[in-house]
Amino acid sequence: MATRLITVCDLCGTEKKEVNHWFLVRLMHYTDGIDMKISRYSDSKALRPGAKAICGQSCLHKIVSQTFDSQLITGDDAISSHAR
Ligand SMILES: [Zn+2]
Repeated sequence: MATRLITVCDLCGTEKKEVNHWFLVRLMHYTDGIDMKISRYSDSKALRPGAKAICGQSCLHKIVSQTFDSQLITGDDAISSHAR
């Protein structure tokens, strides 16, 4: 059997099942801050650089607050120090 691509939530590690209300979050780092793009999950979008699979609304809320809270605390330096 061919290797199956397993998608897990980037935040809590939940494995994606066939039917699920998942989101894709893309973080784009700019010199003046971070832009967050949220869309419905799709396998093709998940392959884009910087895309994070998110299993549902509770994890979506967490990643939003994590992203922008860390930006508030560390200021402009967050862009370089948080770049992965
Ligand atoms: Zn999750």
